[in-house]
Amino acid sequence: MLVMEKIKELENIARQLEPDTGTRHDIVREANAYVEHFVESLPGAPGYTTGEINKLRALQIGEEGKSLEQLIDILKDEVDATGINSASGRHMGYIPGGGLWTSAVADMLAAAANRYAGIAYSSPGAVEIGNQMIRWLASVVGYPEETHGNLTSGGSIANLIAIKAARDRYGINASNVRKMAIYFTEQVHHCIHKALHTTGLYEAVLRSIPVDGNYRMDVIALRKQIEEDKREGLHPFLIIATAGTTDTGAIDPLDEIADIRDEYGMWFHLDAAYGGFFVLVEEAKARFKGMERSDSVVMDPHKTLFMPYGSGVVLIRDRNALLASNSYKAAYMKDAYGLDEIDPADSGPELSRHFRGLRMWLPLHLHGVAPFRANLEEKLMLCRYFHKKAGTMGFETGKTPDLSVAIFRIPDDPDNRKNEAFIKALHEDGRVFLSSTTIGEKLWIRCAVVSFRTHLREMDIALDMIRENRDRVLSGGPKSSLHISGDH
Ligand SMILES: *Cc1c(COP(=O)(O)O)cnc(C)c1O
Repeated sequence: MLVMEKIKELENIARQLEPDTGTRHDIVREANAYVEHFVESLPGAPGYTTGEINKLRALQIGEEGKSLEQLIDILKDEVDATGINSASGRHMGYIPGGGLWTSAVADMLAAAANRYAGIAYSSPGAVEIGNQMIRWLASVVGYPEETHGNLTSGGSIANLIAIKAARDRYGINASNVRKMAIYFTEQVHHCIHKALHTTGLYEAVLRSIPVDGNYRMDVIALRKQIEEDKREGLHPFLIIATAGTTDTGAIDPLDEIADIRDEYGMWFHLDAAYGGFFVLVEEAKARFKGMERSDSVVMDPHKTLFMPYGSGVVLIRDRNALLASNSYKAAYMKDAYGLDEIDPADSGPELSRHFRGLRMWLPLHLHGVAPFRANLEEKLMLCRYFHKKAGTMGFETGKTPDLSVAIFRIPDDPDNRKNEAFIKALHEDGRVFLSSTTIGEKLWIRCAVVSFRTHLREMDIALDMIRENRDRVLSGGPKSSLHISGDH
């Protein structure tokens, strides 16, 4: 009887994890009020803010619960108002992300029902949604229908899956890895280096191919290096190209790379994490010619499809290569085998996973593709507008952008001192967040137009901020009284 009493007593406490109807309504109302406040205040909020996170640091997890109000206050003051405002249209540094509100709603629906999206036997519907997204993305790229892939947490894991599939397809192991050669440029994203480490391919021969004046892979140099390597008894097997580099948004010559791949029987992997979705824009399509001939491609819906962070995708043309690299059969999973649908668990390293298909499926169906396409075309035009304006303002600018990243700098600054002071001033100002990069010897400021909340208004705020800070840095004048650091 004592046991029964104890079980009942525990149940009473345990049931606190299941709020009743009234409490659920209150919580949602309170959370939604905060979301409304956040979204409504975005247009006036700075792109970058410094601030303390002391309340957050001091907060301990205890045996007793706290009020939602207290927790949301911390979120509001110390999480959502410090650092880069990545939901804001004023984030134009690095490669900005998205944060579609309709995806947030989808995430709530996905989490509340908590379907198991790893295996079709467990949730045929959730797996079908994920696989439909993969098929739609494959059609965007121009891949054949039998292509398969995996919805991942982002571009890094997606690149890892593709590179591992290539490694396994070519039977690379400890005994032959030192004879295998891989080709990419210095403009490749650093997650490629991570993936090569994780897959043991850092032991292979890694060739950094020079870039041309537009920071695109020099395919003549690529061919020459491959020939040379073959003569030396190496096995060239993998070319890693980028469509939309992080530094400048450059697109490598994809069609020529695909020709070289054909000629030498290699694997052509394409990192289009940021750039890939611009293929949806009619006017930009031609720049992606050859993308559809790649063996694998990575895209980040949390960048140019405006989803919240945690949304990447890898597509692999030869689905058998993908499955061979990821499929395992375990005895305790035997009930789950034998369905037609490909299980996500067999096309990537994860077993249990976030039902991330829903945050893409719901907005695409709700809004249709048109506003996504319009957003992307708008971003391309805004970036060209910015590039032109920066030129007329007297900045040294990079070449006309391939996509939506423009680079510019204060000219006549051989030791980069003026530009160091300039980017520092821009960060202290914070109205719009921009980042910098070093290419060769030169420090460049980058303006990446990616957010679905970046429109003409935000570009003009950026241009005003840039002009004011440039003038101040060059004249050695004081900070504007309106924008003192830490005071937003
Ligand atoms: C963002 C990006 C990555 C890394 O993707 P994550 O989603 O941040 O992991 C890789 N390659 C390119 C070209 C990118 O723009």
